[in-house]
Amino acid sequence: SKKIVIKIGSNTIANADGTICREFLQGLAKQVNFLMKQGKQIVIVSSGARIAGVSTIGKWMRKEDMHYKQALCAIGQVELMDAYRKAFETQQLHIGQMLLTREDFCDAHRTLNIRNTLFTLVDEGVVPVVNENDTVSVDEIRIGDNDTLAALTANLWNADLLILFSDIDGIYDKNPKENKSAKLVEEVKSINQLIKNIEIGDVNSFGTGGISTKIEAARTVNDYGIPMILTNGKKENILLKLLEDKEKATIFW
Ligand code: ADP
Repeated sequence: SKKIVIKIGSNTIANADGTICREFLQGLAKQVNFLMKQGKQIVIVSSGARIAGVSTIGKWMRKEDMHYKQALCAIGQVELMDAYRKAFETQQLHIGQMLLTREDFCDAHRTLNIRNTLFTLVDEGVVPVVNENDTVSVDEIRIGDNDTLAALTANLWNADLLILFSDIDGIYDKNPKENKSAKLVEEVKSINQLIKNIEIGDVNSFGTGGISTKIEAARTVNDYGIPMILTNGKKENILLKLLEDKEKATIFW
């Protein structure tokens, strides 16, 4: 695979206390640099703005009001990008922020524009970091989760592979956080069959979409002929190991 979209979940980028995990970003930057030197092209879709906002301004934590949430994202997005910039700088890589909304994917003119921007960044050797523009996306019109955003981005860019990083090794037959005996599903050829055979459990701490949006993301890209891999992003050198087929994961064809 040459063109790879990598989606980083909140649970992957944040430490247990909600702060951004610098070690994770450092490892990511190194691996991305390594892959780019091999001629691969990388686009990142990253969550974590809200949790970064919460850990910056802890006192707002309990407010569920929509504008507070959006304000938290406005604060956290800066923290998030600052952390990305610092990590990628150590690898002499530039990053470019793209904040998108649902309308960007619905209107042909806007879609063409973001597509061209994305291609330009990648052609220039810059790593695009995509997120939903939470400060303008009210609940009713949001994409709502970055699994979907990552799938739409992969289709828009004609990616060869979508990788979702979460805090679990893949899809299990039951929620692995609650069932020690849960079994990993390594390969999914029929999503409808998968849904009949597994239990879908709750979203954990900082997550938004949960496992359902990941499965739907697979459907979205698979329809365009793009495979998707779900795996645990917190493992060391996960990207490199994954591409060498040496890591536990679920692949959707
Ligand atoms: P992220 O922030 O990485 O996108 P989410 O919290 O939204 O992650 O979704 C992943 C979580 O979904 C896992 O940590 C797991 O606890 C939960 N989950 C529920 N059911 C399943 C299942 N059948 N297989 C795997 N994970 C599941």
